Amino acid sequence: MAKIYTDREASLEPLKGKTIAVIGYGIQGRAQALNLRDSGLEVIIGLRRGGKSWELATSEGFRVYEIGEAVRKADVILVLIPDMEQPKVWQEQIAPNLKEGAVVDFAHGFNVHFGLIKPPKNIDVIMVAPKAPGKAVREEYLAGRGVPALVAVYQDYSGSALKYALALAKGIGATRAGVIETTFAEETETDLIGEQIVLVGGLMELIKKGFEVLVEMGYQPEVAYFEVLNEAKLIMDLIWQRGIYGMLNGVSDTAKYGGLTVGPRVIDENVKRKMKEAAMRVKSGEFAKEWVEEYNRGAPTLRKLMEEARTHPIEKVGEKMRKLLFGP
Ligand code: NAP
Ligand code: MG
Repeated sequence: MAKIYTDREASLEPLKGKTIAVIGYGIQGRAQALNLRDSGLEVIIGLRRGGKSWELATSEGFRVYEIGEAVRKADVILVLIPDMEQPKVWQEQIAPNLKEGAVVDFAHGFNVHFGLIKPPKNIDVIMVAPKAPGKAVREEYLAGRGVPALVAVYQDYSGSALKYALALAKGIGATRAGVIETTFAEETETDLIGEQIVLVGGLMELIKKGFEVLVEMGYQPEVAYFEVLNEAKLIMDLIWQRGIYGMLNGVSDTAKYGGLTVGPRVIDENVKRKMKEAAMRVKSGEFAKEWVEEYNRGAPTLRKLMEEARTHPIEKVGEKMRKLLFGP
């Protein structure tokens, strides 16, 4: 069973009197920096001069430095720039400026786990990965709540690495909700597998193919959109609030019977086998290698696929239907 930490098991004490440098002031960087500061901790920001965030962080009252200087000033460093940008910035600006005994925190294990960042032996390497978008990290904190997070220790030089991770988790409000201990491998692999086979990849294809089937059979696209996309949210809300069994108890007997008998015939053992294949490609590092190469080439495949997604017929009808549903 997973170990879950809450406010009672976490203390801010290990971070008192320490300087925390948040590198990056984007989606996670801004939210975490503001929360840590509001939790009474000493926070500075590391950025590239002339970038968009520099002015924003300054206007929100932070002392902002170039990344190398921020790292030199800090005891604890949060690496919160985009994953694909991290290896180069690490190599050129973070690693050369780290002092012995520094604590380096990531919000996702990708680079460390797949060996794209190789930390020196004389620092702590930890992870606090909020399981929500940055916007929620800040909003929940302000509302007196928090978003759940995963914590992990990759390297424990000080012997107190987990205490630092829990302190950061508390500082951003995550222990108010609950924090689960994991490993860099588990966080990274489950995150990628989940987004590929269920969340982003799975849901998107399920909805698109369902839409295509209805439209190809001659049903009106507007009706198909309501059926397979709009209502997907309502069913998901039920699953989220009550679980799968609870959702089943919230729909008609016809929907229950149809869903329970036909669902497994559509999403069958073949689909599950392919899910496992995709998961194995993540676990072996093959996917990470492919994606890093793609990114470093300027992401031509990603751009092409995004264009295809943008021009899929479900987007045209979707635009119209969403105006109807939510206003212009
Ligand atoms: P993001 O918003 O895209 O990061 C943007 C920030 O990074 C900006 O301040 C930008 O500065 C800076 N930056 C970008 N490239 C840079 C470079 N080459 N050199 C220096 N600064 C650079 O990133 P994010 O989505 O918050 O992700 C940060 C980390 O959090 C990642 O590890 C991600 O996996 C993890 N995470 C994110 C979320 C989420 O909600 N997005 C959730 C959980 C975990 P400029 O203004 O100068 O461009
Ligand atoms: Mg993900």
